[in-house]
Amino acid sequence: MNKCTSCGAPIEIGCEKCPYCGTVTPYGEEKFRERESKLKDDERKKALENLPAMKFVANAFIPVLYVFTMGLYSVWWYAMRMKPLNSLGTKSKIPAWLVALFAVLFAGIFLMPPNLSDYTLSRVDDETAYTVYDIVLALVILSSGWLAFIARKVLQEHAANFMDKSQAVNSVAPSNVMLILFGAAYLQYQVNKMIKMNMFAPKI
Ligand SMILES: [Zn+2]
Repeated sequence: MNKCTSCGAPIEIGCEKCPYCGTVTPYGEEKFRERESKLKDDERKKALENLPAMKFVANAFIPVLYVFTMGLYSVWWYAMRMKPLNSLGTKSKIPAWLVALFAVLFAGIFLMPPNLSDYTLSRVDDETAYTVYDIVLALVILSSGWLAFIARKVLQEHAANFMDKSQAVNSVAPSNVMLILFGAAYLQYQVNKMIKMNMFAPKI
């Protein structure tokens, strides 16, 4: 038996309120807090369920993927993320033709027959000449950079639903240098960050 803190009446253990004066017991207060926090948890879970899902890749694993696939991860990333990113409802969209062009050019670098890749397209002088390989490589870098900038724009526009637009620009993939150098790997790192900020539901 406990005693009511207000009127001193005996109260059975497990009673949330004094049956005589209605004062909430310490046990009742604790139960109330438990219910409140469960309600908040449920709300959070529900909000998370309504979030668009994006694939989560462990941060430490991203550079490994990037290096071991010799950059092929980049092609894979745009091909796999294009659909979920384009269904976010943002104004900017990733053009499918650009992803396809990037994939074909990328494959070209590895699969080009030597007699074609060494074929000289334009000779500047006796020392400098551009081969087919040089041109394709330049186009790969160009298309991958272009894709990275569009994907960043999509992520920033999505983030702007949760925060101020200028804040979204400053917090989602803010480094141009990192974006150009690491493209898809840098973008996946941003997606991970946005999952932690509850802007995406994680898809493992
Ligand atoms: Zn009482």
